[in-house]
Amino acid sequence: MSRVAAIGIDAGSTTCKLVAVDQDGTIISSLLEPTEPRVELQVQRMLDAIRAEHGANSSVRTIATGYGRKLIKDATRNLTEITCHARGVFRDLGCAGTLIDIGGQDSKVIQIGGDGRPVDFMMNDKCAAGTGRFLEYTAARLGVPVPELGARALSTAQEEPISSTCTVFAESEIISLIARGAEPDSILRGLHRSLVGRVVSMVRNVGIVAPLMLSGGVAKNEAVREMIAEATVEDVILPGEPQLMGAYGAALLGI
Ligand code: ADP
Repeated sequence: MSRVAAIGIDAGSTTCKLVAVDQDGTIISSLLEPTEPRVELQVQRMLDAIRAEHGANSSVRTIATGYGRKLIKDATRNLTEITCHARGVFRDLGCAGTLIDIGGQDSKVIQIGGDGRPVDFMMNDKCAAGTGRFLEYTAARLGVPVPELGARALSTAQEEPISSTCTVFAESEIISLIARGAEPDSILRGLHRSLVGRVVSMVRNVGIVAPLMLSGGVAKNEAVREMIAEATVEDVILPGEPQLMGAYGAALLGI
């Protein structure tokens, strides 16, 4: 018999993640791909691959979350990213506290209670500033691959302040900084500071109950981690696979 007890699907705006867990809630398989225009077809293909890998049949419970969760009509249930990220991180790190989730097109601050459920949250999904997309645009403009952004921003002590909080205006600010001969790494450092400023103001609104935890794809960016720790004067802790926490939490809630 298959070990798969449930499969979590996080159909995000930028990446699509699937996580399969066993009855104890241990991750036994995961997949991550850039989100395709027809996410429902993509999820079907990814589900087929995970089921085939583990000899699981279609009766295994599937829980969908993320931006495109309502498009996954065949899922057993769909749940919000707030609930799923809280659950995944609570299980992975084993504690309540304040979680910052920064994804491709939104960011959230979630207070996780002692039972792993969200007790309060704040979300920014209206504006690209404060999300991965803000860094992606500027990375493209500077010709730096996304996984290298954080290290490049930390490689210099020089920082070009970016005054625009809007992605569109920030982009024109970058163009004029480049024209004036500013170093790309100093520009990147300023951009990271600007993103972190947006996120930390949300954190202050919700309040910090230590520890401060980070999830979502942008948690992989070391400059974001370091600048959040600096701005909040808190240690920032990360689950093992920060980008998979939504799908992991969804899978756990399906057992
Ligand atoms: P969503 O769930 O909203 O689709 P994710 O949580 O998958 O988004 O996060 C996607 C974002 O993560 C991208 O916009 C990108 O900026 C960032 N990201 C992904 N991989 C890395 C990496 N290796 N280093 C830094 N940032 C990353």
